[in-house]
Amino acid sequence: MEIEIATLGGYEEVGRQMTAVRAGDDIVIFDMGLNLSKVLIHDNVETEKMHSLDLIDMGAIPDDRVMSELEGDVQAIVPTHGHLDHIAGIPKLAHRYDAPIVGSPYTIELVRQQIEDEGKFQVDNDLVKMQAGGTMAIGDSEQVEMEFVNVTHSIIDAINPVLHTPEGAIVYGLDKRLDHTPVIGDPIDMDRFREIGRQDEGVLCYIEDCTNAGRKGRTPSEAYAKKHVEDTLTSMEDYSGGIVATTFSSHIARVKTLVEYAREIGRQPILLGRSMEKYSGTAERLDFVDFQDDIGMYGHRKSVNRAFKRIMKEGKGNFLPIVTGHQGEPRAMLTRMGRGETPYEMDDGDKIVFSASVIPEPTNEGQRYQSEQLLRMQGARIYDDIHVSGHLREEGHYEMLDALQPQHLIPGHQTLKGRSPYVDLATSQGYKLGRDVHVTQNGSVIQLVE
Ligand SMILES: [Zn+2]
Repeated sequence: MEIEIATLGGYEEVGRQMTAVRAGDDIVIFDMGLNLSKVLIHDNVETEKMHSLDLIDMGAIPDDRVMSELEGDVQAIVPTHGHLDHIAGIPKLAHRYDAPIVGSPYTIELVRQQIEDEGKFQVDNDLVKMQAGGTMAIGDSEQVEMEFVNVTHSIIDAINPVLHTPEGAIVYGLDKRLDHTPVIGDPIDMDRFREIGRQDEGVLCYIEDCTNAGRKGRTPSEAYAKKHVEDTLTSMEDYSGGIVATTFSSHIARVKTLVEYAREIGRQPILLGRSMEKYSGTAERLDFVDFQDDIGMYGHRKSVNRAFKRIMKEGKGNFLPIVTGHQGEPRAMLTRMGRGETPYEMDDGDKIVFSASVIPEPTNEGQRYQSEQLLRMQGARIYDDIHVSGHLREEGHYEMLDALQPQHLIPGHQTLKGRSPYVDLATSQGYKLGRDVHVTQNGSVIQLVE
């Protein structure tokens, strides 16, 4: 059976991930992401109303035109998890393919919301939920099957899809860390990866997330971040002024931890900001988390302002607002608080907890700097980097290679420079650049089996 892999997006950047695998007559697309930094750099761009080709020209979504070179039918579009660099291209591109969108339940709910917000295209693809551990026949050959393996990442319900073919398995390895003690959900299913690696046909190809490939050691578990949050917040137990926390809205495990320790130190947690409400509300509806009835969750401007007024009236010391704005995004809640645009008034000594690291990208770094300075000018104290990454470091990469023993490797989810440490690591394990390690660019097609 012929096997081809088209690397469409995320091979020259972190963002707009998209990869297509053709096995015989059948094609499966993994991820259709958006590179948000290419959008935010322009003022007042409303992507909802934009045409795909304009977004492709901006470098914001994958250029999928090379798909016409693949001789087969797309049978499924498979987002691996709900981060925007994996799903936010779907409203712009999925309608071009007569195929269902297949993902884990939480991912599919977020995809549904993306499609509902789309203002230019009608996206009618079927939305199909499949749990980790589930399998699905691909096409009519009865020779290709897709399986979801449970993985752990900085968003709940992440999976790695595996395409089983007569030539061996193709494992799409974006995005994960090896977490054996996650705060929500099951540990990463390393047993299953080892089984797949030891099947008769073995693993033909492994596509790997190189985000942290150059970092030594092991990415800590979410349980470690939980301890760090506990240590930070309980140290503030005697402080009676304002404490505000911020993290990735989609990082439900972290939001849960912040909610838990807010209560532990006698404060009522309140989630504020549009995406806080969206991601946490969705997680609660799907029973991933139970925040209890008394938690406030507000997204719209008016209800947010009402909540802030209540906090100021009843005393800041009784509350712990968990807000958007961990990267200093100009329109997010914390940035607006820094600019004094909300009814929340900062006092000298108030504490701001960033349960996030700065995404190392000049726009982010500048915006985050600006946000912190504005908060400091009002007397706030900053606690930063109360966080662990969602991506593998070196030791995780060694472990995955050992488990899967793949014949071919395609490093992804990074720039050319960002992938080079992974090439070194793979080389140290007996792989060879150009022979079985394939460093590609967006729009390349690799033929693995002729
Ligand atoms: Zn991700």
